[in-house]
Amino acid sequence: MSQTFDKKGRLKIPAREVKQEELIVSVALCPEGHNLITEKHKIKGYPGIELAFRRAGGEEGVVVLSPILGDREVLFLRGSVDEGEVVKFLCPVCDKDLPILSTCDYCGEGNIYVLFLDDYLSFNNAITFCSKRGCPNSSIRKSDRIITALGL
Ligand SMILES: [Zn+2]
Ligand SMILES: [Zn+2]
Repeated sequence: MSQTFDKKGRLKIPAREVKQEELIVSVALCPEGHNLITEKHKIKGYPGIELAFRRAGGEEGVVVLSPILGDREVLFLRGSVDEGEVVKFLCPVCDKDLPILSTCDYCGEGNIYVLFLDDYLSFNNAITFCSKRGCPNSSIRKSDRIITALGL
């Protein structure tokens, strides 16, 4: 970003410079405390969130979610998921089902999964994402906003 002002003289603020530490997750824990952030697979330059998934037919795969809040980019390491398909998410380390907060209030089909941001494993300090591919809620969000939105 060499140009700080646009043609009309307005200050240009690159999104990446706005409170970066709040926008990018560097810890995402399963209920057993495994950190699913992976240095091996980056999305937009940041270590992604590696998750195992299971399709309705039983087929399993591995996907990396973007660690950037609101970013829907994903990277499939194994298997694939169709647009609009709902899957089950598991921890790739201990193979346990990841916790579900509720049904997605946006699509009504996916489940809102939860990953914890610290060792207290509290739903209030967590990130959430919908298990339906392509749902706007499928990018990671802060759980407190979702909890408020759902009135839980
Ligand atoms: Zn685990
Ligand atoms: Zn959804």
